[in-house]
Amino acid sequence: MKILIAADMEGISGVTRWEETDPTHSEYTRFRKIMTDEINAAVAGAADAGVDEIVIADGHGDGTNILIEYLDVRAKLNSGGSSPLSMMQGIDKETAGVLFIGYHARGGSQNAVLAHTWSSGRISNVWVNEILVGEYGLNAAVAGYFGVPVLMISGDQTTCAQAVELLGPMEIAVVKTATAYFSAECLSTELTVPLIRETAKRSILRLNNGSGPKPFIMKAPVKVKIEFRQPEAADRAVRLPGAKRLSALQIEFISPDMLVAYAGFRAAVKQSYD
Ligand SMILES: [Zn+2]
Repeated sequence: MKILIAADMEGISGVTRWEETDPTHSEYTRFRKIMTDEINAAVAGAADAGVDEIVIADGHGDGTNILIEYLDVRAKLNSGGSSPLSMMQGIDKETAGVLFIGYHARGGSQNAVLAHTWSSGRISNVWVNEILVGEYGLNAAVAGYFGVPVLMISGDQTTCAQAVELLGPMEIAVVKTATAYFSAECLSTELTVPLIRETAKRSILRLNNGSGPKPFIMKAPVKVKIEFRQPEAADRAVRLPGAKRLSALQIEFISPDMLVAYAGFRAAVKQSYD
C-alpha cells in the first residue's frame, strides 16, 4: 500500500510567525527540524499501520524544508520545485490515501495561524466549482482526480475544522490552538510527535476497514475563480487562454479536469512582471 504525506509548514506546532517559515530568517532552522520531526511521526504512524510505500511532498515555499539527513528511511522525499504537481507531487492512481501535515486554514479565517490560500500577499480567496477552498481543498481535489481520499490533517484547530467541514470526517491532530493570526497555544513536540503518529496510524486503519473519508472529486469541467488582493495580479492572470475578468480583483477560467485546473491556477498566481 502506498500513501502520500503532503507537508506544509505554517501548521507545524510552535509556528506563529512568518519568519519561522522563512529560510532567510535565523529562526527557520529550528522549525524545519520540528517540521521534519512531525513528518517523521506521520511516516512512523503509517508504517505502524502496515503501509509499505510512503512518499512525501515537501509543499512549503520552494519545497526544500524537510531535512533529508533526519528523514525516516522508510519514506521517499519529493523535494524542490517547480515540480509537476507541486504540493501533491508523488500522487498517482496507486496511492491509497493522503495525509496532510503542517497545514493551515484558508485565507481570511479568524483564529487561524498564518491563514492564507497559496499566497498571503497576492490571493484573497479561491473557489473551485463555486466551493470556497483553501490549500487543503485545492490539494484534496487533486487527490480526488486520482480517486484518492485525504485521511488526516494536522495543524491548528481552525484548519482541522475547515478540512473536516469540506472533506468529511477525517482524522485530525490539533497541534496548536490559534488565538489570533499571529498567536497560538502550542503543544510540545514531545506531545505532537506521538499525537501525529497515533492519528496517522488510526487514519489508515479506518481506510482499511472502510470507514475512512471519501475522495473529494470535482465534477468536470472544473471552474476556478480567483480573487486577488491587487488588480495588477488579475491584469496578468487574465492573459491565461480562456480566462475571464469578473471584476477588478476576480478572474475565472474553466478547465477540462482538476489537473489542468490546478496547473492553470498555479500559472495564474505565479509572480512575474513580464
Ligand atoms: Zn506553507
